[in-house]
Amino acid sequence: MTTHVHQFICLQDNFGVLVHDSRSGATAAIDAPDADAVVAAAAAQGWTLTDLLITHHHADHIQGIPGLKARFPDLRIAGPAREASRIGALDMLLREDDYAHVGDIAARVLETPGHTAGHICYWFEEDELAFCGDTLFALGCGRVFETPLSVMWDSLAKLADRLPGETEIYCGHEYTEANARFALTIEPDNAVLKARAAEIAALRALGKPTLPTTIAAELATNPFLRAEEPSVQAAIGMPGVDPAAAFAEIRARKDRF
Ligand SMILES: [Zn+2]
Repeated sequence: MTTHVHQFICLQDNFGVLVHDSRSGATAAIDAPDADAVVAAAAAQGWTLTDLLITHHHADHIQGIPGLKARFPDLRIAGPAREASRIGALDMLLREDDYAHVGDIAARVLETPGHTAGHICYWFEEDELAFCGDTLFALGCGRVFETPLSVMWDSLAKLADRLPGETEIYCGHEYTEANARFALTIEPDNAVLKARAAEIAALRALGKPTLPTTIAAELATNPFLRAEEPSVQAAIGMPGVDPAAAFAEIRARKDRF
């Protein structure tokens, strides 16, 4: 195993993540919430940043780009082609099924519009890792700002369909404890969810992160990924409905939660 992942909290509740290939020495940051925090995390690991992989254009994911570029002048910056003009500074424009490389390891690009219209995820297939930005969260999903709700549902269903269950999922934010409280309003009798909520509360009480998660864990507990489950549809009073409609109802309830 030559792939190493280091996750850390920065700003308020953003995750910074570094992916390091020990064979080549290459290191990528996933998004750039805070240049100083990313530089410090890389230094603490003894890693030199070579690549930056951007998921979407929101400020709390790109505002560290100038600081990282100043510190690492050879930094290669990759990001979604569909948001190139809003991000700027991209050296490599990525589309569906393109590959981004970190030394000898490769991430396949999955376009997941919804939270933003051009959002992409990075799937390191061989390493069974995926970086989902603000599309999928542990027990939640991103707010849908730039597309119809059905587009976000299609993106979540795509992640659930394409990524094997054991894939480790890293996300843009530590929102899990609040997401668990909301998930329990949808499925108060889901025993797996109840057990997970208790584990999450214990981790947060110790100040520990609740990520990464896995696709399998999300399929068992995340109400947004479970919008086609008969039990979830019954719980929201919409039995037999199109899953995109159930998703839209759950997302609307979360927005008001
Ligand atoms: Zn965002």
